[in-house]
Amino acid sequence: MAEKDLPFDIESIVNKALEELNGMDRDADLEKWRLKYFGRKGIFADLTGSIPKIEQSLRPIAGTKINSAKRQLNAAFEEKKKRVSCGVEANSEIKMNFTLSGLKPDYGSLHPITLVSREIVRIFHGLGFGVHTGPEIETDFYNFEALNMPVDHPARDMWDTFYLDSKRKILLRTHTSPVQIRVLEKLPVPLRIIAIGKTFRRDAFDASHSPVFHQVEGLMVGYDITFSNLKAVLAFFLRELFGPEIKIRFLPSYFPFTEPSAEISISCVICGGKGCQTCAWSGWLEILGAGMVHPEVFRKSGLKDPRLTGFAFGAGIDRIAMIKYRIDDIRHLSFNDIRFLNQFR
Ligand SMILES: [Zn+2]
Repeated sequence: MAEKDLPFDIESIVNKALEELNGMDRDADLEKWRLKYFGRKGIFADLTGSIPKIEQSLRPIAGTKINSAKRQLNAAFEEKKKRVSCGVEANSEIKMNFTLSGLKPDYGSLHPITLVSREIVRIFHGLGFGVHTGPEIETDFYNFEALNMPVDHPARDMWDTFYLDSKRKILLRTHTSPVQIRVLEKLPVPLRIIAIGKTFRRDAFDASHSPVFHQVEGLMVGYDITFSNLKAVLAFFLRELFGPEIKIRFLPSYFPFTEPSAEISISCVICGGKGCQTCAWSGWLEILGAGMVHPEVFRKSGLKDPRLTGFAFGAGIDRIAMIKYRIDDIRHLSFNDIRFLNQFR
């Protein structure tokens, strides 16, 4: 017993079905065809129903043949249906409608770090500050020594550093402050600049820490720059950035490269100063570190005029973005999840 002994000729059934399908260009005909072959009382239902009547050893062959024919015809049917419904077939009932508007292409959005950086640049441009950059790979001199942190200075512990060579002379900058030195070496005074860029520290990667983050550095140097200028510039900056209603607080602080130094907070923009989780129930958010440029920094930069004064400041852009856009986990800023990023249009 073999295939030729089957009581039906599956090949010619398939050929006939395909031929009929080929000539069709209307949905209604397609539906008739489907019922003829695959309906409850259709040709394939009959074929399947005839299997028990076939001689036993031929039944598996018959089953396989019927199934593969069904698969082939189903695929041809789906393909034909697609062509008819999108008007590819010559006499389709549905024609192409060229007046319909096209599919809207999806467009990208700017990263919150980019948005905040641009906003900061805009504010300081308005105050006459130029924008500078410096290398991310720095030398010990620019990152520490010229900023009044000689080897073994205890303040170096504040910055857990990625060193790139075994002699600990080449490193990933731990802050944007080295740009101050590079600018002071190069540009004539008086000057006012900001520098924005990536910084690196050996921090854990959790909700509030990241080994890579962004800072903005500012520097204003001249012959009559005082702490009042620092206060005025930074208060203007913070009110532009967070709104005119915020309160600003200056507290004494310590940085090796400024003297005196201050840490600057704004009233919490989330709770309005009443106290919440974000401000650790203090009502204040620390935003900036700042101070008057330390004379040693001028000396290391090759500026010897004792009449020169200036102020410098630094702020974390990631932190500003998190506060401004109410982002609760710094890791969102580097995961590149398109659903997160699409919110910032
Ligand atoms: Zn708060």
